[in-house]
Amino acid sequence: MLLREITTLAQNTTPLFYTGISEPIPREGEALIRVTRCGVCHTELDEIEGRMPPPHLPVVLGHQVVGVVESSGDFSRITTTAPFGDDKVVTTGQRVGVAWIASACGLCHQCLAGNENLCAEFKATGRDVDGGYAEYMKVRADFVHPIPDSLSDSEAAPLLCAGAIGYRSLRLSRLTDGQCLGLMGFGGSNHLVLKIAKHKYPKSKIFVFSRNSNEREFALSLGAAWAGAIDQSPLEGLDAVIDTTPVWGPVSEALKFLSPGGRLVINAIRKEESDKETLTMLDYPSQLWMEKEIKSVANVTRKDVREFLQLAAVAGIRPEFQEYELSEANQALLEMKQGKIRGTKVLRID
Ligand SMILES: [Zn+2]
Ligand SMILES: [Zn+2]
Repeated sequence: MLLREITTLAQNTTPLFYTGISEPIPREGEALIRVTRCGVCHTELDEIEGRMPPPHLPVVLGHQVVGVVESSGDFSRITTTAPFGDDKVVTTGQRVGVAWIASACGLCHQCLAGNENLCAEFKATGRDVDGGYAEYMKVRADFVHPIPDSLSDSEAAPLLCAGAIGYRSLRLSRLTDGQCLGLMGFGGSNHLVLKIAKHKYPKSKIFVFSRNSNEREFALSLGAAWAGAIDQSPLEGLDAVIDTTPVWGPVSEALKFLSPGGRLVINAIRKEESDKETLTMLDYPSQLWMEKEIKSVANVTRKDVREFLQLAAVAGIRPEFQEYELSEANQALLEMKQGKIRGTKVLRID
């Protein structure tokens, strides 16, 4: 499924083009992956609609890829700064995942400090290099992740972005057990954050905000203490809030509900411009004073992905998902845009 030009789903409901392309040839340090599943992420909408356009077109989108290593170039000379020992070497037939991080320089101060997600040379799968909305893709062999045996391909795919970045968001929220957590929006990522939080912080109450009544019911069924509309007061102060919505209104509301010293983590790669004027109405005393903080979460590191895959396997964290054929990718994206989400969407490619 190729993205050939930037458009909007309002103008064009089939932005991806189903066609044949030649099989990628892995070079030194790369592996060829036969893709079996690829998760569908809201970031694909940001790419298609030009909020974060890929640097060159056409491009194959998709960065929650599960597949099997088909063959590899010579990667005997790979050097990596990531502390993964021998498992930087992938073997033919191995089941692996590919996440949003396609590569980083490995040499700059951010990479050396463990912040490869902030590297100036950061390259993203399905944006800067071709991704997983295809039968085959090639990847840097030191940027693939072994998939734990207990996870099926469809279960593993959404964990590679929605789950891993949710895991990072929860870590950046600095929540401790017993503190109250708010989740703004309840799609692919935050429904996994709820599952992670219930495992790691069993004494914490979780408050879910969504414009969509189906999502609110879904949240309660997964163990949320409370679910309400975006502007509905939870009646308790929140120590941390994670916002995954594409707009600004929820940022403003979340700041009202934060307790003193609380932190809002924005897990959105881009925000839409539609209601940006909301920010000009921020009330400093009630929304920012008392050491309230706003922090974004950017990208993921390989460590985030690997730690989270292990946690998911051990803790039984599984995504709720719906499957689509590769050729139905446009339909899956359109339903995501329209908010017809329950859990996550996964493309079947085998
Ligand atoms: Zn994503
Ligand atoms: Zn770097």
